[in-house]
Amino acid sequence: MKVQFLDLKKQYLNIKDEVDKAIFSVIENTSFIMGKEVASFESNFAKFIGSKYCLGVANGTDALEIAVEALNIPKNSKVLVPANSFIASSESVSRNGLDVVFVDIDPITCNIDLNDFKNKYTSDVKLAVVVHLYGSPAPIEEIMSFCKEKNIKVIEDCAQSHGATQNGKVVGTFGDLATFSFYPGKNLGAFGDAGAIVTNNEELFKKCKMIANHGRIEKYNHIFEGRNSRLDTIQAAVLDVKLKHLHKWNANRKMAAKRYLKNLENVPGMSLLNELKNSESVFHLFVIVTKHSMELKKYLSEKNIETGVHYPIALPKLEAYKHLNQVSSCKVACEMDSCLLSLPIGDSISLEEVDYVSDCVKEFFKTKV
Ligand SMILES: *Cc1c(COP(=O)(O)O)cnc(C)c1O
Repeated sequence: MKVQFLDLKKQYLNIKDEVDKAIFSVIENTSFIMGKEVASFESNFAKFIGSKYCLGVANGTDALEIAVEALNIPKNSKVLVPANSFIASSESVSRNGLDVVFVDIDPITCNIDLNDFKNKYTSDVKLAVVVHLYGSPAPIEEIMSFCKEKNIKVIEDCAQSHGATQNGKVVGTFGDLATFSFYPGKNLGAFGDAGAIVTNNEELFKKCKMIANHGRIEKYNHIFEGRNSRLDTIQAAVLDVKLKHLHKWNANRKMAAKRYLKNLENVPGMSLLNELKNSESVFHLFVIVTKHSMELKKYLSEKNIETGVHYPIALPKLEAYKHLNQVSSCKVACEMDSCLLSLPIGDSISLEEVDYVSDCVKEFFKTKV
């Protein structure tokens, strides 16, 4: 059996008529920039998350950069960012003239470690970028109460967690701003690059909107210098169609994850991650932890099973961050990165496929003990 890491073709075929029609409607109306589909998707996505405002932007990285800029944090302030994430989480901070302080991860969740978060706090810290990694909520409630006490702004990076919840509240509604990516492989993915910012704060929403559209309020009335990071109308049309299926797709991911958790419980040589007790993950990724990750990856590939690694080099160890000298302050993340392996999961993976992958994983570890 061949198991793809994520089967986007199957997803497309399931919604082909609907999505093709939406795309051709944009083309027929030639409403390529800021067509009505953009406002429609923004309104529907805000509803999905349960936040007042949503702004579509060009991608998830821009969403983060614009969110950081909108908060107007004094230059050279410090910003807490988890050591295990995609580089965009920290890039957006440095590129706004702020100093990244990496926070170590909790080995049980691979998300930001609450104790280390508090330990890394100094009075120069003015912002935290909290990532809900792999679809699994970070301890955001506790982080919010700490940050309120210390007057730290919070951006939630929800690029991997569309619809995940903590105590029944959807992630992206806790922080001052939250950012989403609709990169094709995310739980909600466009047919190219796309992203969004959500917030309940009208002033921040307006600021983000102006930054993303050349600092203007009317066509040629620019109040300050911004940039061009609008959500493309064709992408908005695709996303608006796909959003209607997202609850169902997330449910399939959860079902697959539950099956993996059951199948791979107590397999010697590897361990599973846990979600926080008060939280529900949307399983953007299903990650296992093992010293034999690269050997297992090769073994599974010989069985026609695609896997991934998220992320093979912890952020503090990247060439881009060597100058920060923060490897030794994030020991867990910097040691665990060589032990991570992401198994296939997605909106259309079948239990049969999950069982096949699980059997192959178990077979591999039989040779290891
Ligand atoms: C995908 C991702 C981003 C960046 O999104 P793009 O749309 O690819 O720019 C940011 N943060 C995290 C955690 C991501 O997974």
